[in-house]
Amino acid sequence: MIVIDTLDDWRSLWDEWRSAGYSVGFVPTMGGLHEGHLSLVRRSGAENDRTVVSILVNPTQFDEQGDLDAYPRDLERDSSMLELAGAHAVLAPEPDAIYGDGYRYRVTETDRSRSLEGAHRPGHFDGVLTVVLKLLQIVRPDRAYFGEKDWQQLELVRGMVEALFLDAEIIGCPIVREADGLAMSSRNVRLDAAGRAKAAEFAAALQAGGSTDQVRSRLEDLGIDVDYVERRDGRLLAAVRIGDVRLIDNVPA
Ligand code: AMP
Repeated sequence: MIVIDTLDDWRSLWDEWRSAGYSVGFVPTMGGLHEGHLSLVRRSGAENDRTVVSILVNPTQFDEQGDLDAYPRDLERDSSMLELAGAHAVLAPEPDAIYGDGYRYRVTETDRSRSLEGAHRPGHFDGVLTVVLKLLQIVRPDRAYFGEKDWQQLELVRGMVEALFLDAEIIGCPIVREADGLAMSSRNVRLDAAGRAKAAEFAAALQAGGSTDQVRSRLEDLGIDVDYVERRDGRLLAAVRIGDVRLIDNVPA
């Protein structure tokens, strides 16, 4: 596995792979890797000749500086996990290499990005869609893999790819959970023992289902701060805050 930090080096590798006739699968991440990410990498490995994973803590999608600063960063650890999972390349550029325009150009979805996460995190989806568009243009994969954990993000990325006539096929992958049901997340490591227990109760409260009001009051009874609980497209989606850690999850409903 090769770790690349410049776009030029990536383009040379892409040329090599394409000359050999390889199909390319792509998994965009922000690092802080766990089994959820690795499930995407393995899926890509099963469906493509070569898999490249990007690691970039994308500054434009953070609406809180503290969250950006606290985001876990450990390229060595992430790289060894990716090697074991069968990735062929890691693309870990500096944000400046991606935002040469200073974020003057950005992608805005004006309808469905305004609800749920978008209602609570101003500008978040502009940052997500912009970086995904840039990465898809740089990486030029046959397929790109996204987790259903970020349900609304997956839906918006699919919509963007269709609206802007991008070539990559977008593949959604199921949520990977801890043994107690908590959806794996890079932010889980920031929970203390009490917060971690509450986070498992958050997952259980969502899995128990019922009306959005019932789920909300179940969470509030547990002393959990609720950003939203909403039903959409056959899913029950929620975001909560446990201490200073914000968690999202969704289940079929
Ligand atoms: P992130 O590094 O949080 O931006 O996530 C990178 C990709 O991994 C996104 O497509 C996420 O939806 C996906 N992902 C994160 N956590 C999980 C999980 N627990 N199960 C499945 N996919 C996940």
